[in-house]
Amino acid sequence: MTDQQLPDGHRSGYVALAGKPNVGKSTLLNSLLQQGVMAVSSKPQTTRRRQIGILTLPKAQVVFLDTPGIHAPRHELGKLMLGEAITALAEADLALAVFDVHAAPEGVDAQVAQALGGNTPNLVALNKIDLADPASLQEHWDAYQALLPEAEMLTVSALRGDNLAELVERIVSRLPVGPRYYSEGEVTDAFERDIAADLIRAAGMQLLRQEVPHALAVHVDDYQERGEGGAFIGATVFVERESQKGIVIGKGGHMLRDIGTLARRQIEAMSGRKVYLELKVKVLPGWRDDERALHRLGYKAGH
Ligand code: GDP
Ligand code: MG
Repeated sequence: MTDQQLPDGHRSGYVALAGKPNVGKSTLLNSLLQQGVMAVSSKPQTTRRRQIGILTLPKAQVVFLDTPGIHAPRHELGKLMLGEAITALAEADLALAVFDVHAAPEGVDAQVAQALGGNTPNLVALNKIDLADPASLQEHWDAYQALLPEAEMLTVSALRGDNLAELVERIVSRLPVGPRYYSEGEVTDAFERDIAADLIRAAGMQLLRQEVPHALAVHVDDYQERGEGGAFIGATVFVERESQKGIVIGKGGHMLRDIGTLARRQIEAMSGRKVYLELKVKVLPGWRDDERALHRLGYKAGH
């Protein structure tokens, strides 16, 4: 459909998702887009780089920016991630704050609210309503409203889909009248190699569970299109210590093979074609505190 055929009053704009890790931003985005391109994990901060998801409707186009989460920076990595989140907010037409309504707000939620305090109009999704205890719901609602007194709030369940159609309606109604920025079929402009790196990292976190908590980073070294033959991806998994390298590789290389298989399947599902994935493991001591190492891994401030 070309712009000429768009209905009168077609709306479009950028919506930044803001919220601390684990409140369900990626899950919400996934549900809204009905696409499986974001890395979703039960551990915080799987989505390390900013990604864009595009929801194209007959009457509107919503471009979502998923931020890595706002939280008190402890490591260098934390600072860079905070910077990315703030940049996304500044560029957006609308900020969608996501809170977990089944728990009371914490200091980090207040920080999120504070970061939103500026000129960007706000909308609040109180997520995980499926887990909420009716006895404490009102109290949590009031506590979140107190963080952003001007904002309109809505309870949703990203997982079950509750109230998502209403959420989309309210988002669209707040966007300016404008054209379609992206063609109808395009759902993401995040580079496939970034998504591949996120999916490899998510696979590692899923299979390793508690063993190598946050000390895992992935860099895609090589991404080659091979036409009908699919794509070749070479990637390095970085750990902080020699002992972690052993865990990631596993007995006889089994763990690394399992991570590769799981990640390859997900990248294939995402890209819709065959993928050859080659993984290496390297020790990069203290990478989370080393600004140069972070940049080499692609965690650049301001994208
Ligand atoms: P993010 O860090 O904010 O992007 O959070 P994720 O999207 O990665 O979600 C964190 C965890 O919360 C995952 O285990 C999700 O399955 C879970 N989750 C997200 N939304 C919901 C929801 O509406 N209900 C329930 N019960 N769990 C949810
Ligand atoms: Mg996420």
